[in-house]
Amino acid sequence: MGAAAMAPPVARSPRQTQENPMTYRAPVADIAFALKHATGFAPALAQGLYGDLAEDLVDAVLAEAGRFATDVLAPLNVIGDRHGTPFRDGTVTTPPGWRQAYRDWAAAGWNGLAAPAQWGGQELPQAINAACLEMWNSACMAFGIGPVLTMAGVDALVHHGSDALKRIYLPKLISGEWMGTMQLTEPQAGSDVGALRSKAERAPDGTYRITGQKIFITYGEHDFTDNIIHLVLARLPDGPPGTRGISLFLVPKFAVNPDGSLGARNDVRAHSVEHKLGIHGSPTCTMVYGDQGGATGFLIGEEHRGMACMFTMMNQARLAVGLQGVAIAERATQQALAYARERRQGRAASAAAGDGLSPIIAHPDVKRMLLTMRALTRAARAICYATAVALDRARLGADAATRQAAHERASLLTPAAKAFATDIGCEVSSLGLQVHGGMGYVEETGAAQHFRDARIAPIYEGTNGIQAIDLVTRKLPLSGGATIKAYMGELRRTVAAIDAINDPAFGWTGVRLREALDSLDRATEWLQARPQQDDALAGATPYLRLFATAAGGTLLAEEALAATRLPADAGAEPAARIAIARFFAEHIAVQARGLERAVIEGADGILGADAALAG
Ligand SMILES: Cc1cc2nc3c(=O)[nH]c(=O)nc-3n(C[C@H](O)[C@H](O)[C@H](O)COP(=O)(O)OP(=O)(O)OC[C@H]3O[C@@H](n4cnc5c(N)ncnc54)[C@H](O)[C@@H]3O)c2cc1C
Repeated sequence: MGAAAMAPPVARSPRQTQENPMTYRAPVADIAFALKHATGFAPALAQGLYGDLAEDLVDAVLAEAGRFATDVLAPLNVIGDRHGTPFRDGTVTTPPGWRQAYRDWAAAGWNGLAAPAQWGGQELPQAINAACLEMWNSACMAFGIGPVLTMAGVDALVHHGSDALKRIYLPKLISGEWMGTMQLTEPQAGSDVGALRSKAERAPDGTYRITGQKIFITYGEHDFTDNIIHLVLARLPDGPPGTRGISLFLVPKFAVNPDGSLGARNDVRAHSVEHKLGIHGSPTCTMVYGDQGGATGFLIGEEHRGMACMFTMMNQARLAVGLQGVAIAERATQQALAYARERRQGRAASAAAGDGLSPIIAHPDVKRMLLTMRALTRAARAICYATAVALDRARLGADAATRQAAHERASLLTPAAKAFATDIGCEVSSLGLQVHGGMGYVEETGAAQHFRDARIAPIYEGTNGIQAIDLVTRKLPLSGGATIKAYMGELRRTVAAIDAINDPAFGWTGVRLREALDSLDRATEWLQARPQQDDALAGATPYLRLFATAAGGTLLAEEALAATRLPADAGAEPAARIAIARFFAEHIAVQARGLERAVIEGADGILGADAALAG
């Protein structure tokens, strides 16, 4: 036996080698609280927006989702990271255990949770689906992204598909028997979708022949389901250049026979799978169309109106990616907290004599990191759930004016939900790594995987830079500025309520949030006076952060207020919620003034700085 084999195991850090350190426990009570308070969900439920949906059922669905996420999906996370998705002879093998987990997940009805009952869905609120999406993605983000794309495809078909397409494809996409993909990106067409070159030709039988190449297609090929339904953007020969000339097509991997059975293989294939930084369990494919003359495609919506179909589902898909940011931040926070309670280093100033080494959570700087993680995660969660409730109101509101106002609210919040939540997903998972010290940088704790997985979310589904531009150029002008004004009014009412209860436990919360809202007001006015100009675009990203900071901090304060109003035995944890709202206001919302300055005073420092980038 060699010396290496005889060496005793090296103790590296407490518990890390004894327990699975990557465990996730769905925080169902927290999620339910966040959903019901400060997002508009509880009033919507009480007003009957969701028909006779009872709170008990909401709680039961969340609890069951929490169990599935914790028990079935969470253990798959590390397996997917290590196994990846090997590609051989045109086929992808998903990681061990994933296919069965997907089938169990679909069989339990999770895929169709918010889908129309007419086509086999359960038609529950998007807000509940949002909470579930967070749990699937916390448990295993590389798994969770697949269904997000199927759900987006369902949305496109429901709103724009012909009756024939709906009858053939919706039931199986909603049950999860088939999965979907969304295919926009090409080598020369990323953020600039209008630059795409994939072609569609009209065929005599009313279908289309699709040729071209798509890159970075999530779940473009896999072994979860027998058929894969691709939604593909392509241009007809007479399509005008730019986004106005793009059409949307449904391209099944296998043709579907009239009796529903699978027919011939279509002329579309995966060419390769990317090797990437994170979400290793999710196959990211290059797709080739037209080796044999063109894949058969079916038009969705009208010719040249493909982008309009995309816009229908954009709020939903962007929210889903925002929820991935919340999800990974939650998981990283749980893990960092567990580690900080176990790991002992130094003696905290507060330690009693004879206590020995202190757990690192006792050190104020580690506490600061953990509180930042928790506060950012919960603020992003509140923004995302509020967006989901607005989407529900936009669909179900009693009259056209209510639905329009809710649609504008959802449109205003969506870029913040997507970009803020995914940015903080990266920041929080980076802090999680920092809390672990050197053990965070090595792979065995799993902290590094969260950091790697989180990094894609600010890039796909419209980069966060594009989200910020969308907020500034498209969303601030909504209803002549009345949409954001109404939202700011609501936020200010919460701050006034904090003043009114005058509880010293809130510390400087009210003052700091009011200052943040004042900063947001000034920055908003400044940008509204400069629509589309370069100096407004230069300030878009700090503006989005300012918007989300003011909104997120106020929503946390609203949650804290709600907790103080509930009976003492309701388990609402008012002290903990006040503490987190206060921390956010005093340590994070105070950054608002700096962000305001970057927006209002910083444009020249960017636009006139080419010399700094020369050479
Ligand atoms: C793992 C993974 C999965 C993906 N899944 C899918 C999928 O399923 N389907 C699909 O269609 N695509 C998918 N994508 C592609 C993804 O949506 C694109 O990568 C993304 O839209 C950005 O496009 P790009 O990579 O070409 O970057 P670019 O557009 O080249 O952007 C590079 C940088 O320039 C900035 N930028 C670009 N244009 C502007 C502008 N006008 N103003 C200011 N800044 C600008 C961007 O913000 C970014 O920071 C996936 C990508 C990855 C990596």
